[in-house]
Amino acid sequence: MSSLSSELRRDLEAAFGDARVVMLHAAPREIGLVDGGGRAIFDGILEVLGPSRTLVVPAFTNQLTDPSHWVNPPAPPERWETIRAEMPLFDPHETPPYQLGAIPALAYRHLRAARSPHPVMSLVAIGPDAEGLMQSHAITDPMGRRSPWPRLVEVDARVVLLGVGLTRCTLVHYAEHLAGVPYEDLATCTFPLEIEGERHFVEAEPSGGDCSEGFDALFPHLERARVVEHRRVGRARTMSFSARDLLRVAAEVLRADPLALLCNFVTCHLCSRARVDGASP
Ligand SMILES: [Zn+2]
Repeated sequence: MSSLSSELRRDLEAAFGDARVVMLHAAPREIGLVDGGGRAIFDGILEVLGPSRTLVVPAFTNQLTDPSHWVNPPAPPERWETIRAEMPLFDPHETPPYQLGAIPALAYRHLRAARSPHPVMSLVAIGPDAEGLMQSHAITDPMGRRSPWPRLVEVDARVVLLGVGLTRCTLVHYAEHLAGVPYEDLATCTFPLEIEGERHFVEAEPSGGDCSEGFDALFPHLERARVVEHRRVGRARTMSFSARDLLRVAAEVLRADPLALLCNFVTCHLCSRARVDGASP
């Protein structure tokens, strides 16, 4: 048994509902002070889900992308060659997720974890559906039809945003891909790969956009469609909805305005350029 309080356990049970597969994006610190910290929360999540349900979390490894694309912080150009030469290859058992918090950092090391094999955009699952959901992840299609995302939609995973907003909801990139948003080809995903014993930097075909800072624009549409459940886990605001509902609403929004989910930050070169390209005939 984890050391999680019965109150937090009840909150988690309510947030997960009766979903067979839970796609979780979480900021555990938002829950408040918890005895045992992230470890206790992670163990508690698995206990609440039990043996018949599956947890899925993102395990992206942006530290393994080409340094010329790094923006936060950028890598100085004079260091690019060194960084490229020293960059390790992706190893699903060894490569830690990059800045995704305590839950993914513990999940990928779990004994029963299955990790999808994409060098940058992998997911981790634990539970009876894990192997099936994570079995393949086309290198050239990180957010597309040959990734785990359509499988998560097929089983109608419950997306749970625990202490985070829609800007963390990666499934929206799959919706962008299905909608064929005009800015897809601005996104790049370049990473080292060993091909016939030699290291190469390969660039994946684009799928979905590259910026998620504008995804909050979906919120009023999801509310109007009455598909969002609002709860608290400890002090953390928690939203949840079904993957299919999200895709349906996002498809409607993108059909009406293909640029609706771009962000408004002047510093975001990707969204600024997407708007300029989208506005030109
Ligand atoms: Zn942006």
